[in-house]
Amino acid sequence: MKKIGERKGNQETFLKNIEKFIRHILHEAPKQLEVDKVTQSINSIKTSSQIGVCPACKKAVIDKGKFYGCEGFTNGCRFSLPKTYLSKAISASNIKKLLDTRKSNLIKGFKSQKKGTTFEAILILNADNELKMEFPRKKK
Ligand SMILES: [Zn+2]
Repeated sequence: MKKIGERKGNQETFLKNIEKFIRHILHEAPKQLEVDKVTQSINSIKTSSQIGVCPACKKAVIDKGKFYGCEGFTNGCRFSLPKTYLSKAISASNIKKLLDTRKSNLIKGFKSQKKGTTFEAILILNADNELKMEFPRKKK
């Protein structure tokens, strides 16, 4: 009987502590959720996932998981870049370079869908900000 009584006592203390804890959180939460801080942390996340600047609207191009997309999407910008192009995964550094200079490095391992052969090419952005390929001139 004594043990049960103790247990009951512990449980009450436990519940009271939880109550205290919840009250504490409710009291502290509004302070922790200061808009500035939230915006700040969102911005830092954005900066860390920003891969470059959108050539169409100058907003950030960010990693969207399956592709790179423009943050101005909600404003109607449809600029995006694939992570994989013709069976070749495009590295983040090449996407960066493509956004910075409108031209990637020479990338090897693209696969021709018709012929099934692999080839190398440079990815470029044309005047309409569309992804195109440029083929290096063959050495004679
Ligand atoms: Zn854009």
